[in-house]
Amino acid sequence: MKCPLCGAVALIHDTRDPPDSYKGQTTAIAAVTGDVFPACGESTRDVAVSNRVMRQMRGFSKQVNTAIVVS
Ligand SMILES: [Zn+2]
Repeated sequence: MKCPLCGAVALIHDTRDPPDSYKGQTTAIAAVTGDVFPACGESTRDVAVSNRVMRQMRGFSKQVNTAIVVS
């Protein structure tokens, strides 16, 4: 697989817990697996992984908004 940005073929399969922040609150999205092109930093993820990340981000922002309303 080639990088869509720079055409490099080197690829690292990697699992991370990337941080997400919303209204000053931060969390980590657990166990996000993807392929990273070290040449330019571009990364790709499975659709299933991307969907899970988006769901977690949405859930986190909802949680933050709820906390703000309560306090
Ligand atoms: Zn690249």
